[in-house]
Amino acid sequence: MSATGSSKEICSTKIGWSDLADKVMGGHVLTREEALSILDSEDDEIVDLLAAAYKVRRKYFGNKVQLYFLKNAKSGLCPEDCGYCSQSKIAETEIPKYAMLNEAKLMEGAARAVEAKARTYCIVASGRGPSNREVGHVASVVKKIKETYGLHICCCLGLLSPDQARTLAEAGVDRINHNLNTGREFYDKICTTHTYDDRLETLKVVREAGMELCSGLIVGMGETLNDLVDVAFELRELGVESTPVNFLHAIDGTPLEARQELNPRQCLRALCLFRFANPAVELRVSGGREVNLRSMQAMSLYAANSMFVSDYLTTKGQPAEDDFKMVADLGMEVVIGDHDSFLAWKAVQEGQSKTSCCEGTSTCVTPEKAAAGCHA
Ligand code: SF4
Repeated sequence: MSATGSSKEICSTKIGWSDLADKVMGGHVLTREEALSILDSEDDEIVDLLAAAYKVRRKYFGNKVQLYFLKNAKSGLCPEDCGYCSQSKIAETEIPKYAMLNEAKLMEGAARAVEAKARTYCIVASGRGPSNREVGHVASVVKKIKETYGLHICCCLGLLSPDQARTLAEAGVDRINHNLNTGREFYDKICTTHTYDDRLETLKVVREAGMELCSGLIVGMGETLNDLVDVAFELRELGVESTPVNFLHAIDGTPLEARQELNPRQCLRALCLFRFANPAVELRVSGGREVNLRSMQAMSLYAANSMFVSDYLTTKGQPAEDDFKMVADLGMEVVIGDHDSFLAWKAVQEGQSKTSCCEGTSTCVTPEKAAAGCHA
């Protein structure tokens, strides 16, 4: 990231972060000057800055952490040229490439989401935008997932037409993810095959179809601090419900492969900016968490209130058990979604497995079977 000036140049009076938190919680709208001061603050202010962001986070989300589980429903083969993406036609990265997954595979992902304590299952497909057939397929699977597991569903399928957005809304999709990725001024440096305005248009049709908006960015692609503030303020204007903040994980074979420039303190400052700019928005520490925040990962949850669990689209995340431990070590608590329907489904599954192994009676249980996990 390149700075636009020191905090002293930007702001003549030094901001007290705790006071700023109080102001924001009282309804104050963060100014550009304040936003830049957050991003350009000194390393020795990071603890105070995070404590202030935590104050805001606590007001709206307490100590709860929401987990999201990603399923790459269609991988690679994308005609677009987003410079950070290993699924783009211009990337030389070796990744799995496949067309839209069938119902069984998407249902299997939903079951994994529940096991990973995720509240939201994110169905993500590569490509400029989906075909109507793909939208129809996703819509029918979403209905089944909701009946079976009661998960919240977020779809990320690229640019959507109004009809496609309506189809997804009618199927019960709660939210669409469509990231702005970076500020308007920098957008054409990371992608030339579609525009920033194309992305805004999709967010508009999603809103008109009545779904929630999830939109965020990737920090560390060579943007200025002003570009980051542009995104934060645009998302505020759009009134998005959820913002994922990704940190560039420079993947070999992508145009941005050599750009690994972030340090953990910059990542934390970016999260604080988004918490102060959009105080009540669900803020997710997202892709690139492990490689960029490293030993300071846990601190991100003082500003953010949600994160992805397990793997990302084409890169590995840390094991879910480590995420659970991190949340517990912070004295925080994972919020599990409404899984009543899942528990009912599990009971049915367990009933079926009893029937298949001992005909539903308890008389055939032997020590060997019990040792193998049969508790009928
Ligand atoms: S449109 Fe999506 S899948 Fe395609 S290159 Fe861009 S980010 Fe990757």
